[in-house]
Amino acid sequence: MSTATHILVFPHPAQGHMLPLLDLTNQLAIRGLRITILVTPKNLPILTPILTAHPSIQTLVLSLPPHPKLPVGAENIRDIGNRGNFPLVSALSKLAGPISDWFNSHPSPPHAIISDFFLGWTHSLATQLGIPRIAFFSSGAFLCSIFSILFSDIARFKALHSVEFTDLPNSPAFKEEHLPSVFRFYNESDPDSRSFKEGLLANMSSWGCVFNSFRALEGQYLDHFRKLTVHRRVHGVGPLSLFRINSDQESSCEPVLTWLDDCPDGSVLYVSFGSQKWLSEPQLQALGLALEKSQTRFIWVVRGEPELDGLEERVAGRGLVVREWAPQVEILGHRAVGGFLSHCGWNSALESVVAGVMIVAWPMEADQYVNARILVEELGVGVHACEGPQTVPDPDELGRVIKDAMGLNAAQKLRAKELKEKAFEAVRDGGSSVTELDEFVNELVRVCP
Ligand code: UDP
Repeated sequence: MSTATHILVFPHPAQGHMLPLLDLTNQLAIRGLRITILVTPKNLPILTPILTAHPSIQTLVLSLPPHPKLPVGAENIRDIGNRGNFPLVSALSKLAGPISDWFNSHPSPPHAIISDFFLGWTHSLATQLGIPRIAFFSSGAFLCSIFSILFSDIARFKALHSVEFTDLPNSPAFKEEHLPSVFRFYNESDPDSRSFKEGLLANMSSWGCVFNSFRALEGQYLDHFRKLTVHRRVHGVGPLSLFRINSDQESSCEPVLTWLDDCPDGSVLYVSFGSQKWLSEPQLQALGLALEKSQTRFIWVVRGEPELDGLEERVAGRGLVVREWAPQVEILGHRAVGGFLSHCGWNSALESVVAGVMIVAWPMEADQYVNARILVEELGVGVHACEGPQTVPDPDELGRVIKDAMGLNAAQKLRAKELKEKAFEAVRDGGSSVTELDEFVNELVRVCP
């Protein structure tokens, strides 16, 4: 039987949370750790690349226990929407019993649990099992400091129409409607909300915290978050997508990439709003017109099969509409792409940083306003275009913002290239993320022999 340190990895079932934790898991496996990944049946296919690359990785497949607020058969956030996070986490917490049973009957059970920061209830599970728990943050440290501050005094912050975070570097301020959704949706009389809050606060007293972020991006916020924790073990090990196992060898033949091959360098705007957001009919029409008026080359990922009023024919050659899903990382990495009209999900934000592509920000909900602030105001690698989940932009105005942003000499474009260099430096040998990852693994192995 192997004597290597055995880790139970437990991702939150949302693609944006799962993929970076699997990237981290890949790095742990490369460093010789023994891994079991806990997954619900429906999310098992997302594990295919890592299971193929590391056949020794085991899986613990457990069905999601039912919950009155969740649709039957729903197993991930795509089926439920952002508001479903509270009941989803509550339902997952019912797995504590089956996990304990599995642990107690395992011939060589895990020495530690690494679980998503939404699954803070695993902190008390790990304590009961007598092993350390590490919180994995698929989001940035800036957001998590904001969460910690808001959730430490909910009643006070709920009463405010805007919050200035004077304890944070640069004293950022946010209007109420721009605060993270899990705080805005929080309802003290709802038991699911309350246990979610307790979980978030438990992250600060778990054994350690690992962030999909890096020092050149968020050094001051990683340091700030460290001060909020009991353990002081806070590691920025991203951008984790730079460690991603290439899951699809055929992807370089995707028609969208062939289309990009014929476009000049930096000329194309990539437009996508992540894995969850569906634009309304009026939003689709307005955005289509704005793209047309901007006279910019573009690739636009559109969910579903909505009618676009002949846009595709009118912009043939200059614009490409991709239905449902696109290979985002590869598109952003193509030399022809120069801008990204994005909702500013954390993964999209990091992927644009890695690609050295400037952001044209349209934050809508969740953590997106917080992320947009870092990109636009603090790092200067983006511009604001629009905001809000229901906003229908003025096509002339949005078209103008896009045209200006895609101008060749935009300062944001140059700064995005500089930040890309720093992202790659972080994951080189001796770089900040590799150093912090090695420190984290070495200490974990030391306490979990
Ligand atoms: N994504 C993709 N193709 C698409 C849409 C999204 O590959 O057509 C990926 C994207 O690369 C990113 C993730 O899905 O890794 C979206 O995560 P993000 O945190 O940006 O937003 P969310 O979907 O959580 O709102």
